[in-house]
Amino acid sequence: ESGVEVVTDEKLTVCTHLPYEPFQYEEGGETVGFDVDLMDLVAEDLGLEQTIVNTPFETIETGQAMSTGQCDIAAAGMTITEARDEVIDFSDPYFNATQALLTKKGSGYDSLESLEGKTLGVQIGTTGQQYAEENAPEGVELKVFEDLALLLQAVKNGGVDAGINDNTVLIGYAEENPDTEMTVEFDTGEQYGFGVAQGEGAELLDAVNQALADAIEDGTYEELFTKYFPS
Ligand code: GLN
Repeated sequence: ESGVEVVTDEKLTVCTHLPYEPFQYEEGGETVGFDVDLMDLVAEDLGLEQTIVNTPFETIETGQAMSTGQCDIAAAGMTITEARDEVIDFSDPYFNATQALLTKKGSGYDSLESLEGKTLGVQIGTTGQQYAEENAPEGVELKVFEDLALLLQAVKNGGVDAGINDNTVLIGYAEENPDTEMTVEFDTGEQYGFGVAQGEGAELLDAVNQALADAIEDGTYEELFTKYFPS
């Protein structure tokens, strides 16, 4: 229908790093989420079946997972940055986000400065880690976590005084865990993109951009937005 040919014959292999709720996470033995549903639309257009490949976020954000053929495309709540744009070809932006702090409720940590002498959890390879490294005063001790779940757990159980991550994931977590709260957003003005190996996935990217445009046009995007970001 779209006339697009991709390198795979049956499967659209999609790299992500689990869990990153509500973009990709396990529920009832299945991987679900906003990104997963959007990638299903792309796969459907291409007559392919989405297969998710779970891999460390560093291998995704450096473009390595895609350039070594681990997957055709990455869908990982990944912010389009200048550095990443040098090694990854990105789709049109599909989501807006900003960095934010999660703390135990009532902790009073509502800025990076308020964390002097305290510990701040960051997730490895993320824009949150980068923002903290560039903006936190020297007296803030950064603790690096391999994934979002470990970072959130550390905030909840007091392993760190605060955690930095994308606002949308923190909002959802704080709603489900009322002993935590999001205290501040930093207005980093980030946009997520799906990413393919540089120079190798132009046709696939065209199909992604078309699927995104169609989903926005026919209301599917809004439906998915409401499903995963109720408020
Ligand atoms: N949006 C953030 C980034 O791109 C976090 C993504 C993630 O952890 N999956 O670094």
